Amino acid sequence: MTWLDLPDDCPFGIETLPYGVFRQATDDPRVGVRIGEQVLDLAAVAAHIGHEHAEVLAQPSLNRLMALGPATCGEIRSWVRSLLVEKSQRAMVSTRLLDASDVVMQLPIEVADYVDFYASESHASNVGQIFRPDSPALPPNWKHLPIGYHGRAGTVVVSGTDVARPRGQRLPAPDDMPVFGPSTKLDIECEVGFVVGQATPLGHSVEVSDARDYIFGVVLLNDWSARDIQAWEYVPLGPFLGKSFATSISAWVVPLEALDAATVPLPEQDPAPLPYLSGGHTSLFALDLRLDIAVNGQVISSPAYRDMYWSPAQMLAHLTVNGASLRVGDLFASGTVSGSERLTFGSLLELSWNGTQPVQLGNGSTRAFLEDGDVVTLTGWAPGANAGRVTLGEVMGRIVASPD
Ligand code: CA
Repeated sequence: MTWLDLPDDCPFGIETLPYGVFRQATDDPRVGVRIGEQVLDLAAVAAHIGHEHAEVLAQPSLNRLMALGPATCGEIRSWVRSLLVEKSQRAMVSTRLLDASDVVMQLPIEVADYVDFYASESHASNVGQIFRPDSPALPPNWKHLPIGYHGRAGTVVVSGTDVARPRGQRLPAPDDMPVFGPSTKLDIECEVGFVVGQATPLGHSVEVSDARDYIFGVVLLNDWSARDIQAWEYVPLGPFLGKSFATSISAWVVPLEALDAATVPLPEQDPAPLPYLSGGHTSLFALDLRLDIAVNGQVISSPAYRDMYWSPAQMLAHLTVNGASLRVGDLFASGTVSGSERLTFGSLLELSWNGTQPVQLGNGSTRAFLEDGDVVTLTGWAPGANAGRVTLGEVMGRIVASPD
């Protein structure tokens, strides 16, 4: 397939070819493609051959590349593949391959708006039971629309960025007065993020059947959550400071095109959604993404994305049904990916059942919630063509103490 000598079990094989933004030392950041343990300096290759989109590939984010649209991005992906497959390209390309360990990855997109959904029935049901034990587990609207909220685009950070424990208000017990200090219930939310590559004018709604054309690619996303701050602040307007301190995404954006072999039917929806959220099997796609959550190197859960109730296409249709416009670089996330079994839950809130059943880390230590110094890594992969694998990479973050 490729002229690179890649081992069979190598991550980021020829089926994946994700885009990222990197720099070396004091160089300007630019667009690269990951292959195996190397990064193809796509900006340098494009400049060398005078590619018509060389300037777009020399940018410090993927936004201008994504804005070229799905047809042109498809052509560029085919060209990248040819660079790594055709032996005639080997001499020219080899000198522009860098060791992944020698580059510094940047935030790959300039995030325009950020929206977080709540699309896992198991997660919504678990959180309902924990936070509202006297009410039905699912809110009455949950099966009629993909619930979401607007998050903070400016605090989306790239994998590897330290996350400072947030400070805020919490209510120690129902009859107490609120207190202020570092969060004592800092948590993970294992999610999948979708990067929007096409803008729309104000007043335009994206149809479910067109949604794929607007989604450039997929990232892994950790929606860090301070449960104590969240529990005290979220009624009646929803998540705010318990979420907005940081959201981490993976450095490599996997084009949706790379996930064709992982596209599966959406689980049955009952009741049938309203017409603007309805569509055939092709439009209402689900993705067979296999995720793992590790704390300090120990895998504590393995959520499966394919069981999510709402399709990314329905999320995008719902997000724009009121005429809200899209911008290139918009990011929307799935919500915590949780399955029905405990070892597929996507947050410590659920895994430890709000701290009552701490998670074993394998070295004798346990976690109800995160401690300073903990390193959380979300990884993922998907079935690729010809029994291969598409690598979703990782999103990693280390918790550091609150600033004084
Ligand atoms: Ca979330």
